[in-house]
Amino acid sequence: MSAPITQDVLTIPRKATDGLPNLVGMTRDQMRAALIAAGTPEKQAKMRVGQVWQWVYHWGVRDFEAMTNLAKDYRALLAANFTLQVPQVVTRQISTDCTRKYLVRIDGGHEVEVVYIPEEDRGTLCISSQVGCTLTCSFCHTGTQKLVRNLTAAEIVGQVMLARDDLGEWPIPGAPRVETRLISNIVLMGMGEPLYNFDNVRDAMNVAMDNEGIALGRRRITLSTSGVVPEIARTATEIGCLLAVSFHATTDEVRDQLVPINKKWNIETLLNELRAYPGLSNSERITFEYVMLQGVNDSKEDAYRLVELLRGIPAKVNLIPFNEWPGAPYKRSSGNRIHAFADIIYNAGYASPIRTPRGEDIMAACGQLKSATEKQRKSAQVN
Ligand code: SAH
Ligand code: SF4
Repeated sequence: MSAPITQDVLTIPRKATDGLPNLVGMTRDQMRAALIAAGTPEKQAKMRVGQVWQWVYHWGVRDFEAMTNLAKDYRALLAANFTLQVPQVVTRQISTDCTRKYLVRIDGGHEVEVVYIPEEDRGTLCISSQVGCTLTCSFCHTGTQKLVRNLTAAEIVGQVMLARDDLGEWPIPGAPRVETRLISNIVLMGMGEPLYNFDNVRDAMNVAMDNEGIALGRRRITLSTSGVVPEIARTATEIGCLLAVSFHATTDEVRDQLVPINKKWNIETLLNELRAYPGLSNSERITFEYVMLQGVNDSKEDAYRLVELLRGIPAKVNLIPFNEWPGAPYKRSSGNRIHAFADIIYNAGYASPIRTPRGEDIMAACGQLKSATEKQRKSAQVN
């Protein structure tokens, strides 16, 4: 018998937002300007940023009082002028496969979801960039929800920080350095379209990559877009992370239905943009995500067409068995069909892994995020 799903409400005390600027999520330049505005002498500002940065992003400290290499009166100055806040965890669910899903609350009482997926050789944190999504992909649960707002940079990098809190991943002073990371990878594949919130996503990821803090390598971060063509090149030049594209169809007719942004930027426009992607090389291939929907986009002809479309682009194809949600208008393709599709792509020279659905029992798999949580929360037993 498998272990029961656990769901608990975490008792992290709610700190009232006191209206002070939040240092979390600021770039180094922004933090420098903020510290100067609060009375830090200009000459010291760079050093102060370095010190605060290390406390916040290397040690995971969120209390100015604990920043012991700062003079007492400087700590008091910081506390009087700033806060250090990350989103608050409302509930945490742990799947039978050890996937963790956090429902977190952000200012305004909105909620987003964050998913942690442990695997043998890595631990991936799937983070959200918006509350809901303005796009309405017909197979995606998030797409059935109205956008409420973009997340701030603090709320985006804050998701990484709260997951590190929960997993106990901040280093312990004096303890030997742990080389294996629990969160070794970040994917921007949660709720929302990251390229419609570009600046905040960029700033948050630059904070997460900064070597004196969380220090995740740029190739350990993957941004997934439905195809916001005008913002794609900036992903390479301003973030430098890996790119995934929600492709999902091989004709405009079908893609218009599945990913409606295709009506604005169609397959040809999207592929031309991807061909020109800065720095595109075999070692940094673009991932083409392809959700397998029974009888919609999963024929052999589709697979052959996909191969033709990809010609000239260093690519890999990630096949995603459709994850169902209540009222979803599609069914998952059969295992046989998915494998037959994968073989055609593979034989044409492209890697074609099939994504294993994770955390299905807690509705944490791709495209299942958000609305159901409300329902589950009401009916779940809360300890
Ligand atoms: N908005 C971005 C990132 C979030 S979605 C995007 O669309 O790329 C992350 C991935 O999950 C996308 O490839 C998306 O198409 C896919 N997805 C959405 N709903 C799904 C579902 N029900 N089953 C499987 N994959 C789904
Ligand atoms: Fe938005 Fe991505 Fe879902 Fe489409 S698949 S509705 S872009 S979150």
